[in-house]
Amino acid sequence: EQVWIGVDVGGTKVLAGVVDDEGRVRRTALRRTPGRRVDVRMVEDALTEAVEEAAGDAEVLGVGVAAAGFVDADGERVMFAPHLPWEDSPLREVLADRWGVPVVLENDATAATHAEATYGAARGARDVVVVTLGTGIGGGLLLDGCLHRGRNGMAGEFGHMQVVPGGLACECGGYGCWEQYSSGSALVRFVRERLGIRPTVLEDMCQGNPALLTGPMVTDAAGDGDLLAHEAFQHVGDWLGVGVANLVAAFDPDCVVIGGGVSAAGDRLLDPARTALERTLVGAARREIPPVLPATLGPGAGLVGAADLARQTRR
Ligand code: BGC
Ligand code: ZN
Repeated sequence: EQVWIGVDVGGTKVLAGVVDDEGRVRRTALRRTPGRRVDVRMVEDALTEAVEEAAGDAEVLGVGVAAAGFVDADGERVMFAPHLPWEDSPLREVLADRWGVPVVLENDATAATHAEATYGAARGARDVVVVTLGTGIGGGLLLDGCLHRGRNGMAGEFGHMQVVPGGLACECGGYGCWEQYSSGSALVRFVRERLGIRPTVLEDMCQGNPALLTGPMVTDAAGDGDLLAHEAFQHVGDWLGVGVANLVAAFDPDCVVIGGGVSAAGDRLLDPARTALERTLVGAARREIPPVLPATLGPGAGLVGAADLARQTRR
């Protein structure tokens, strides 16, 4: 068996998967991201383990790496990553040498944009804004049918647009970045600040220890009708819509696609975002407001896109 592999490296987890010619994920392997203040080598080890496990006995034709960071215009180096230890790291070459196979490197959200435009929610669209909600906010742009990477390869860093002057400190070094208000981390922060004050099943779910609270716990609790979890999604969803309104004002896209782990909550997240979009979008009464769609490839979008880009590069 010969396979193409995609691997998504986020601030919380590393997900590798075998991706077939139709963009379907055949099998996956998961690892925890070792952290932000570790040697880059540890991240490469986690990547390697995940890729090897996903590959199994198959012959690997190439690997696409979707990295949560600022990938340079040549797809060679990760210049900077708010949630990971990379700094001007020649990741593509390091991994290609280590694995002995062709490697393509892309920003995680840009890879997800490619996947959603090719196989997912944005099929057939020309202008698309993609926002992924995970540890941070990732962004991707399809303009006139092409991925838009910008001068430095760093276009679409929507998560670090300042939405609150002098607001919350961000891991990028800035303040008031959008991802501090609308992401998995923002969801968890909202709940943590209210634990012990408001009744919630999340108290038990994290064994009374706020440090153990995770985004998926909040998603589960909201699904079970927990009021605090529901409010957390209202809050994060509202902030999502406010940011999306700015992106719609800038790009006037055919559609907006929301992906990343937090998007597993579906309409619980998207409905408040749609409401905020309609409320805050400039000229809303005199325009078609683009649909806000869930990513159909879900949390796998990044790895699917990266594998597909690797396959295309080799053709
Ligand atoms: C990073 C992006 C990344 C996003 C999602 C942001 O904090 O700056 O490069 O795409 O998180 O992982
Ligand atoms: Zn930031």
